[in-house]
Amino acid sequence: MPGWENNVRKVVPYTPGEQPKIRDLIKLNTNENPYPPSPHVLEALRAMDADALRRYPDPAAEALTEAIAEHCKVPVSCVFPGVGSDDVLAMSFLTFFASGREILFPDITYSFYDVWADLFRIPWEAQPLDENFEIRNRDYFKENGGVIFANPNAPTGVLKRLDSVREILEHNRNVVVIVDEAYIDFARTAEEAAVGSDTPADSALNLIGDYENLLVVRTLSKSRSLAGIRIGYAVGSEKLIRYLNDVKYSINSYTMNQAAITAGCAAFQDEAYFRRCTSGIIRTRERVKKELSALGFLFPDSAANFLFITHPKLNARDLFCSLRQAKILVRYFDRPRIDNYLRVTIGTDEQMDALIRFLRTVLN
Ligand code: PMP
Repeated sequence: MPGWENNVRKVVPYTPGEQPKIRDLIKLNTNENPYPPSPHVLEALRAMDADALRRYPDPAAEALTEAIAEHCKVPVSCVFPGVGSDDVLAMSFLTFFASGREILFPDITYSFYDVWADLFRIPWEAQPLDENFEIRNRDYFKENGGVIFANPNAPTGVLKRLDSVREILEHNRNVVVIVDEAYIDFARTAEEAAVGSDTPADSALNLIGDYENLLVVRTLSKSRSLAGIRIGYAVGSEKLIRYLNDVKYSINSYTMNQAAITAGCAAFQDEAYFRRCTSGIIRTRERVKKELSALGFLFPDSAANFLFITHPKLNARDLFCSLRQAKILVRYFDRPRIDNYLRVTIGTDEQMDALIRFLRTVLN
């Protein structure tokens, strides 16, 4: 190895889901929203002028921060926007997990957590989910350097109820607890989603006022169909947000580009569209649950826009390959405990019908 190479920070990177350029692909592998973003978003982007691109954007992305604050019903000083929730989470790891003690997260969860921890030299210890893929709260009652979990969890879809989230917070008053709510907008019934776009009952946003050390991280990638524009945000106490901004302004003042600010603001102006899309996806999810159960598939009850399925008579890796040949792309994780499962994003009704038709022929 040449000398300079000894000085390189070597990391094992996260592997994102495939974005293949195959025509007519039914793409159910990255939990994207099958519906387009609100028409307001495209209108707003088209109305941007050259000056908006010539100039640096507002470093605080104030207009977007205000829109988020209004949606979450918190003060602007409690909101931190970022380039997708990946950016917000990475920044949060760097900012809040600096004690040198092990941070805790589930063994089966978003596989970026251990990557960030390793990148930033944060020690970590994975806590095994129980046999139902539920977090065992008592595993998080010990001494630690911070806690992070996704709710609903990924790739399982399992939702932790608010009382249980509160219990983890009660036992972790001296470290920062991050709740990754990338999928929380789907954690309600279709009827609830159709009438209200308020905070779901199990969102940790309901606890923000009670815990200065709680950070809730969200994204516009899933429920607002904006994965391509990259907007995520954190909500927390003014103090937490100030610390996050200090780190952000020490790396890159202009994380939010003008197009993202414009698109994000427009997305929050169309709550009727948001409600319609979200309730549609939830309705499809509940129907697909019934159809998959009828075919003998097993899965934890998902509160997200995906299902984590297994079948006693099928090998998941083989099924992944035959689905891919049939131009249906889902996600397979070659990891302990979950290597006989597939994560299937909820698409349109037509896409899910095609999936179910294919599965039916495989089983016959
Ligand atoms: N958290 C979880 C649990 C996720 O599944 C994802 C999507 N890969 C993210 C965060 C990041 O999403 P984004 O950066 O698009 O906001």
